[in-house]
Amino acid sequence: MIPLKKPEMQGAEISSKLKAQSLKSYRNQPLSAFGFRLSALMQRRRLGFFSGIMSVLALLFCCFLYACSQAPVTGRSQVMLVSPEQERSLGFNAYKNILQKERVSQDQVLNQMLQTVGWRIANAARRPDFDWEFTLIENDKVANAFCLPGGKVFVYTGILKYTEDETGLATVIGHEVAHAMARHGAERMSLTLLAQLGETAMQTAIRTQSANTIRVFDAAYGLAANVGVMLPYSRTQEYEADHIGLILMAKSGYDPRGALGFWERLSRGKSASSPPSFLSTHPTDYDRIAKIRSLLPEALEYYAN
Ligand SMILES: [Zn+2]
Repeated sequence: MIPLKKPEMQGAEISSKLKAQSLKSYRNQPLSAFGFRLSALMQRRRLGFFSGIMSVLALLFCCFLYACSQAPVTGRSQVMLVSPEQERSLGFNAYKNILQKERVSQDQVLNQMLQTVGWRIANAARRPDFDWEFTLIENDKVANAFCLPGGKVFVYTGILKYTEDETGLATVIGHEVAHAMARHGAERMSLTLLAQLGETAMQTAIRTQSANTIRVFDAAYGLAANVGVMLPYSRTQEYEADHIGLILMAKSGYDPRGALGFWERLSRGKSASSPPSFLSTHPTDYDRIAKIRSLLPEALEYYAN
């Protein structure tokens, strides 16, 4: 695992310790409580009371400028300092890079399955602002999938042995599309770059798409297989993506109960000689599967209708 490069910004008023700790610090924190994250941030930075107040005001100002958004389905409040346009611009560059680097599968049967499942999920998502595209990457060694901002979905052939059928694939695509709809990557970027750089330098770094910004983007969107950097979504985001994903699946006509099978198979993959890379950003344990089970009654209402 390669550590993220230090920020290239000059004059960023943060300690070198903070730079090194920033990703670790945020990796496992829940994102649900705005106040909790903010106070943790200030604590890390060991700011005095006055500068703490200034940070609060600055962040509130950012929220005023960029709007703290709400996640779909759950309605959870999110700190969002990356605009949808900035996010999509970074996403489009990542999209071009992936297509240049990876080999697109020519397997007609598998591609047909991906298009069928992908478009059924896309129709259920009702996001006419998304420019949907579903690409199968030929690489059996990489068990991964992700959705870039704006709806560019990539699935590696390596994950198909865990998805097994259309329902399993719908579980993965529903979950990844849910991350994109809820802008979880932008949320991760906002907090990571804010901790690294501070708000002003962060805006410059995003605007100019500095090398560090691109690395943080790749990490925040689960492109781990491509860049060797892992920044798992928080537990809160994972549960939220499971929740939204199950409803997308059900609305698309896939039995959401089939999601359990996929996550159980993936969990068993942990002990394989080369565990699925999807696990690096999607730790699967008993709690997760139990939580999915508890969400099924709600999802099944959409499946029945
Ligand atoms: Zn996820």
